[in-house]
Amino acid sequence: DNQGENGPSPLGSTLTDVTALRAEHERLCAEGLKLDLTRGKPAPDQLDLSTALLDLPGAAGFRAADGTDTRNYGGLQGLPELRAVWSEVLGIPAAQLITGGNSSLALMHDSVVAALLNGTTDGPAWAGQRIKFLCPVPGYDRHFAICEQFGIEMIPVAMDDNGPDVAEVKRLVAEDAQIKGMWCVPKYSNPTGVSYSAEVVAELASMPAAAPDFRLFWDNAYAVHHLTDTEVEIADVLRLAAEAGHPDRPFVYASTSKITLAGSGVSFFGGSEANVQWLLAHLSKRTIGPDKINELRHVRFLPDAKSVAEHMRRHREIIQPKFDLVLSILDTELGAVDGVSWTKPEGGYFISLDVPDGTAKRVVELAGQAGVKLTPAGATFPLGDDPRDRNIRLAPTFPKIEEVEAATRALAVCVRLAVSESAA
Ligand code: PMP
Repeated sequence: DNQGENGPSPLGSTLTDVTALRAEHERLCAEGLKLDLTRGKPAPDQLDLSTALLDLPGAAGFRAADGTDTRNYGGLQGLPELRAVWSEVLGIPAAQLITGGNSSLALMHDSVVAALLNGTTDGPAWAGQRIKFLCPVPGYDRHFAICEQFGIEMIPVAMDDNGPDVAEVKRLVAEDAQIKGMWCVPKYSNPTGVSYSAEVVAELASMPAAAPDFRLFWDNAYAVHHLTDTEVEIADVLRLAAEAGHPDRPFVYASTSKITLAGSGVSFFGGSEANVQWLLAHLSKRTIGPDKINELRHVRFLPDAKSVAEHMRRHREIIQPKFDLVLSILDTELGAVDGVSWTKPEGGYFISLDVPDGTAKRVVELAGQAGVKLTPAGATFPLGDDPRDRNIRLAPTFPKIEEVEAATRALAVCVRLAVSESAA
C-alpha cells in the first residue's frame, strides 16, 4: 500500500468540517457529472491500436501455415502458429496450450462446469459434494460470481504484498478435502496490482492438499500488461507443480482481451498434457472447433513475442498517464487522511483504494450522487461482502484523461466527507 506522505493537503483544515465538505459535495452534485470508474475496459484509443485486425486475414489470406482452410470446421486445440506465438509470450509449451474463444472467463467457467459434472483427471464429479474455493481478497468479482452461480462455498484469504497469505492457504488446503480450488491472479492482480513472489508460487505449486483433485485456477489475465519499466516475471507454476508431483494442479488462463480487442480477442488454457486432454474432451462436446479466422488474424497482427511487447508499450503510453494522474490526485487530496491508503500498481488495470473501516459504501453512495459511478463497495469480496466495508476498486483506463481527473477529484471529496461524517 502506498499511503501518501505529503504534508496536510489544501483541504486539511476542513477535513473535520462536515458542513464545508457537504457544501462542496452539493456543488459537485449540481455540476451534473456523468463519470464512470467501474470496469476495467480498454479505452477507444487503445482499441484503435488494433484496427489493422479488422482487415485481416483478408480475402486471400485465409489459409494457415500448414494449408488449413481456416474458414472451415475443425482444429479444436487451436491453430499451431497461434499457440507457438503465445507459447513464447506465456512461457507454456505449445502442446500444453488450448485456444478458446474471445473470453478466458468462459474457459474458467467451462473448467468449473466440467469438474462439477464430469470430475477432473484425478477425482470424481464435484457435483453432489460440498465444494469450497479459496478466494484471495480483495479479488475479481467475476471469479466469485462463478462460485456463487454453482453453490461453491468461498473462503476469503487475505492478500499481502507477495500474494495470498500462503501460511493460511497451506493450513486450510492441508486439512480440508472439500477445498477443491483457489482463484489466483498471479501477476498485477485485480484489483491490488500485487504479483505473487517466487516463494508464494512455489508453495502453492508444492503444498500438500487434502483433496487429490485440488486445482489452482491461475488466471494470468495481465501477463504482459506492464505500467513501468520493472516488467514483473512470475515463477512458472506449471513447471513447479510438475516438479512437486502435482502436474495437474494448475489450470492456467490468459487472453488478448486487453491486448487486441476486448470483445474479439483470443483466449488460452494452459495445463499438463493430461489436463489439456481433459478439457479438449469436454470442449469437443460443445464445439467442432474455434474461430480460426480470428486466430489467424491474431497471428498475422502479432506474429511473435516481440511484437506483443511492442504493442503493449503503446497501450502503456495511453494508460500510464491515467494511472499517474489518479495516484497524484489521491496523494495530494487524501495523503493526509488517516486510514486511507491505496496501491501503486506496476501493471494491470486497477488501483485498490482502502478507506477507513465502515465508510466504503458511503463513499460509493456519495460519489454516485455526484455522478461518479464506482464499482459497488464489497464487489471485490465473495458475495459482495467486505467485512470491513473499506475496499473500493478504481478502474481508470476507459474514461478520457479529463474525465479521470474530474472523477478522482470528486472521489476525493466524497472520501473526505464520508470520513468526517463517520468521525462526527
Ligand atoms: N480475469 C481477470 C483477472 C480480469 O480482470 C478480467 C477482465 N476484467 C478477465 C479475467 C476477463 O477476461 P476475458 O476477457 O478473457 O474473459
